[in-house]
Amino acid sequence: MDVIVLGGGLMGTASAFFLARRGVRVTLIERGRIGAGATVASFGNIRRSGRHLSQLPLAARSLSIWNEAETLLGRDVEFRPTGHLRLIFDSESLDDMRAFAQSAQAEGLILDELDPAQLRTRFPGLGPTAIAASFSPNDGSANPRLVGPAFADAAARAGARVVDEALVSEIRTSDAGFEVKTAKGTFRAANLLNCAGAWGRSVAAQFDEDVPLETWGPQMAVTEPLPYRIAPVVGVWSQTHGAYLRQVERGNVVFGGAVDRVRIESEPGFARPDPARLPAQVAAVLKLVPALADVAIIRQWSGCEGYVADALPIMGPSGTTPGLFHAFGFCGHGFQLGPGVGAAMAELIATGQCETPLKEFAITRFAA
Ligand SMILES: Cc1cc2nc3c(=O)[nH]c(=O)nc-3n(C[C@H](O)[C@H](O)[C@H](O)COP(=O)(O)OP(=O)(O)OC[C@H]3O[C@@H](n4cnc5c(N)ncnc54)[C@H](O)[C@@H]3O)c2cc1C
Repeated sequence: MDVIVLGGGLMGTASAFFLARRGVRVTLIERGRIGAGATVASFGNIRRSGRHLSQLPLAARSLSIWNEAETLLGRDVEFRPTGHLRLIFDSESLDDMRAFAQSAQAEGLILDELDPAQLRTRFPGLGPTAIAASFSPNDGSANPRLVGPAFADAAARAGARVVDEALVSEIRTSDAGFEVKTAKGTFRAANLLNCAGAWGRSVAAQFDEDVPLETWGPQMAVTEPLPYRIAPVVGVWSQTHGAYLRQVERGNVVFGGAVDRVRIESEPGFARPDPARLPAQVAAVLKLVPALADVAIIRQWSGCEGYVADALPIMGPSGTTPGLFHAFGFCGHGFQLGPGVGAAMAELIATGQCETPLKEFAITRFAA
């Protein structure tokens, strides 16, 4: 069996890695640099709380791989299970959290509920006006800059051919199955896996499959380095977009959320943050950690991500073309899922089935 994986973000590199480990002949084709799409721009949050329930089995599979990432990949991608703290500021959000926690329990996600006294004792200085919080002790974060290249290198060591900076000029079906013409030559394989991220819609469209996907950029920023004090990833249960932040071990506090995403044209897909939105974002962050009031912000960025109309990704076989598979459109929360997506897609392609339920993510849900 042979497979071309199109797109060298986290989904493509992880899929190439798990396919190669199954003994499948894999060629990973990336038109730019490995891991330099939405993946590198990510906040790096590895959280399960607040996800659509249909994603929790996949998120659980992914978390077990994140826990083994250093051994599997032969390098530290800075996965740190420091826990995920979500602050609650109003009673509607507390009800939401409790309802989610109850449903998520069946999927193995245990959320601890903290009252204000417990919050102040365990996490002094975080959310002083919060009325409650949830804490998920096994979640955490990893370094988005390291993970794509680490999966690609590990895939290459497992036998995959990795072709980067290969502008793709044509993708078509052929006698061999699929043919992909690139600036670095023409590649053929019986199977094609579309991991083209925000650009996955245009790849799928070439096989007569339309997906209501739009491209948007979440807006991120980072502070100067500070003494390391905030261990967990911090977010909010909120009726609107809440802010979120984490402190890396080198001391910088990375933050995002709380403001609208920036609109991006999918071609070329270059995302620019809007500096005018920063004050509102900072105000929301200060509600979580007032001690950041006088800190310098040293950089802002965004990244081109594909958002599907129903906020669920596209994963599974094509509805039109045998041998074609899709894994794209992760709607701003694919970083946590990435390793699990790679393992699940490799299992599906290599064996024809997948132990993780993917039915809700089928591209055919939009076929009508
Ligand atoms: C600012 C930001 C913050 C985020 N924060 C989080 C977070 O904290 N937690 C979380 O879980 N998720 C987060 N996400 C979402 C997460 O980063 C993405 O869902 C995930 O990285 C998507 O990976 P991908 O491989 O599908 O896409 P990408 O990383 O975009 O990779 C797709 C690749 O395909 C390539 N490509 C496109 N077209 C072609 C073609 N025709 N041929 C060959 N290659 C092609 C592109 O060059 C690109 O490298 C965030 C996203 C952004 C933008």
